[in-house]
Amino acid sequence: MDTIIRGGIVVTPSGRSASDIGIRDGRISHVIDRDSTTIELDAATVLDARGAFVLPGAIDAHVHFATTSPGAEPGFVDDFLRGTRAAIHGGVTTVGQMSFTDTGSLRAAVEADHAQARALSTIDYVLHPGTYAVAAEAISELAGLAEEGYRTLKLVTLALDEDSTHFAEAVARAGEHGMLTLLHCEDGALIEHATSELMSDGRSDLRFYPESRPVVTESAAVDRAIALCELTGSPIYIVHLSSARALEAVRAAKGRGLPVFAETRPIYLYLTDRVHAEPDGGRFIGMPPLRRDEDVRALWEGLADGSIDTVASDHAPWSLAAKIDPALTVETARKGMAELDTFLPLLYSEGVRTGRLSLERLVAVSAENPARLLGLYPQKGALQVGSDADIVVLDPADERTIRAAELESAADYSVYEGWTATGWPRLVLSRGEVVLARDGSSCTITAAPGRGRWLPAGERREPV
Ligand SMILES: [Zn+2]
Repeated sequence: MDTIIRGGIVVTPSGRSASDIGIRDGRISHVIDRDSTTIELDAATVLDARGAFVLPGAIDAHVHFATTSPGAEPGFVDDFLRGTRAAIHGGVTTVGQMSFTDTGSLRAAVEADHAQARALSTIDYVLHPGTYAVAAEAISELAGLAEEGYRTLKLVTLALDEDSTHFAEAVARAGEHGMLTLLHCEDGALIEHATSELMSDGRSDLRFYPESRPVVTESAAVDRAIALCELTGSPIYIVHLSSARALEAVRAAKGRGLPVFAETRPIYLYLTDRVHAEPDGGRFIGMPPLRRDEDVRALWEGLADGSIDTVASDHAPWSLAAKIDPALTVETARKGMAELDTFLPLLYSEGVRTGRLSLERLVAVSAENPARLLGLYPQKGALQVGSDADIVVLDPADERTIRAAELESAADYSVYEGWTATGWPRLVLSRGEVVLARDGSSCTITAAPGRGRWLPAGERREPV
């Protein structure tokens, strides 16, 4: 055996146990319950997990890293190196990159991202071929991509009315090829109307942004996405669900037995639209926008009761200057923010410590369910003999103040600046290699660029 993680409490969606974990050749070789055995594992490296929880590394199904050289306009500031270092900092050991095409070809998009990820990624990764307008070429590529292990397709319903025939056809074909369609659900026509009303009323300032995309613009798109699922029989996964009303639609669809899955995102769990009144409130702009207290409450309940299957970061990092540029309007706002560095600590702090989410459920929504839905389970998202040793040793008593200057992302601000989070990774392992070690105030990330591997998808499984 190469490594033992000794003395911790191992947590899975079905419970917890006082167990030691043995690792050989990057995989878990032993899980030994200390209460039911006297076997003492021995290895060259013994890692101390006393007083800590041992969790499967988080699988963040939804990130946006910049993989092409920046043009004249500002863009996302993290590439696969900075982005995956931020992931490790936040306890994430697998990322799913949205590989958007700008030529219409999905294959060109994943190949461009592969080129950078192969050289720079510090952890294992999945690429989701994605497109706005759906070109015939994209549809014709699906069979080949599925064959090679791409089992997801990312579409954006904002583009649905641009070419509704191709859009529906893509969802249908994706399902036939065993792919899960990841859908960004907002209605383009409704948003266009609300936005142009704001612009002509002289309310173009970023603080009015939430009014340009009210809840109905999300729920209308979610209703249509569910209809597409019902019509085609293809499974869908709704990304970054933000409102109680959209959640109700998902819950009802699941109740009817439809293969509809849902993800939510940190900002919708921790923030409300009130922050837009703050100075430089533009830094909180995401797509969809922040909602109300009752939505936040509903999303936590949905996570706890299984209506929402996963939490993903939607890490979309900008510089602060680009984000709050005074020339921006509700029409041209730059959407998204850095989230990876604080991913597990905030979910633990705001979810588990407040009693809104059990620790077992945190493991389900952050690791096991994304692994199941992406066809990675039980290689990833599990602490079983044979699983990759992607492991977080989380110290539940470690309290820290979030300072963007200390984070790995190249974004120079955090929407959580000054917040206190309790529960940080003491150790992060990727395929058995210690890639993060924290000791007091020093946090050392040692993962080499390019060590991350692409993960072809296997069989998709039902979430727990
Ligand atoms: Zn996104």
